[in-house]
Amino acid sequence: MYASPGAIHLHSQYSDGSGSIPHIARAARGAGIEWVIITDHDTLDGRAEQGYIDGVLTLVDQEITPFHNHFLGLNVDRVIPNTLPPQQFIDATYDAGGFGIIAHPDEQTYNEFKGLFRWDDWNINSPTNMSGRSTGIELWNFMSDWGEQLTPNNKEFLYAFPTRGLRGPTKATLEWWDALNVAGKRTFGVWGLDTHAFLRPSPFGRLQVFSYEWSFKTLTNYLWLPEKLPGNINSAMRMVYGALAQGRSYMVNRLEGDCPNLEYVAFRGAERWYAGDIASLREGPITLKVTLGSDAPVRLIHNGSEIMSGRNTLLTTINASGVYRIESTKTQTPWVMTNPIYITR
Ligand SMILES: [Zn+2]
Ligand SMILES: [Zn+2]
Repeated sequence: MYASPGAIHLHSQYSDGSGSIPHIARAARGAGIEWVIITDHDTLDGRAEQGYIDGVLTLVDQEITPFHNHFLGLNVDRVIPNTLPPQQFIDATYDAGGFGIIAHPDEQTYNEFKGLFRWDDWNINSPTNMSGRSTGIELWNFMSDWGEQLTPNNKEFLYAFPTRGLRGPTKATLEWWDALNVAGKRTFGVWGLDTHAFLRPSPFGRLQVFSYEWSFKTLTNYLWLPEKLPGNINSAMRMVYGALAQGRSYMVNRLEGDCPNLEYVAFRGAERWYAGDIASLREGPITLKVTLGSDAPVRLIHNGSEIMSGRNTLLTTINASGVYRIESTKTQTPWVMTNPIYITR
């Protein structure tokens, strides 16, 4: 399989971002990103520019943004009204043939630098009629996390040392994600950027908080694809949306180093299952194997609880059904997180 690095949740000049879509694609290319999903607020005006730009698959979707309760509506060809209540705009997105991701669900802080845009009712988390489809949760949103730490006193410091303003996904968000998957509601995780590249006046001239190119080197989503993205835009789009919705992906905080060759596989004999797959124990126990490709701590999480840890590699036999995913943290904030492999009786 090929791991294709991409970025989710960016704003362009079509809403309140500072960059044009070609500028964003160029910045992505400079940061080694192969696909991006731009989600401007309540508009698809940028859709005409969708396609391969500078070799980067540039997809243009929307962020449905009422006052609270933001939702990334993907793969739909109409603007979903932000005046609908959350359950209805989720349903409208899926009725239109798309799918979506609950954005920055656990914002806690309102300060002079940002509003408070949390997801109010966590009982609303999927379309009314799931019929085999999945929803996503933006487990970690770079700009939300960073912005929540800002105060008038530390803003220059956190601008100069952005990693000091990051905590990672909140405990509540991870617990919600695990609980939904354990309950059988297929929910994939992503890490989003929410880059606007705002230009702000400062005593040193106008500062950019933060540039697209810099942001593209932070939270990266790797999709495990059967091969590199094809040149045909429709096939490439299908591959990206398909892998995302299936949870065939893992996330890397590249501020702490890249992890391009992560291996996470379940196997029995010649059979293989990867993140997003469902494996059954009916024919006997299954072996789980993970290799980070670097000497860092790695943990195996079963139904939300750590059951095993080691360095670089884990290998274990599984006899219990449940939701199995991998985490790695080198310092304070998470470094790597996979989507789960689902194991049934
Ligand atoms: Zn938002
Ligand atoms: Zn946003």
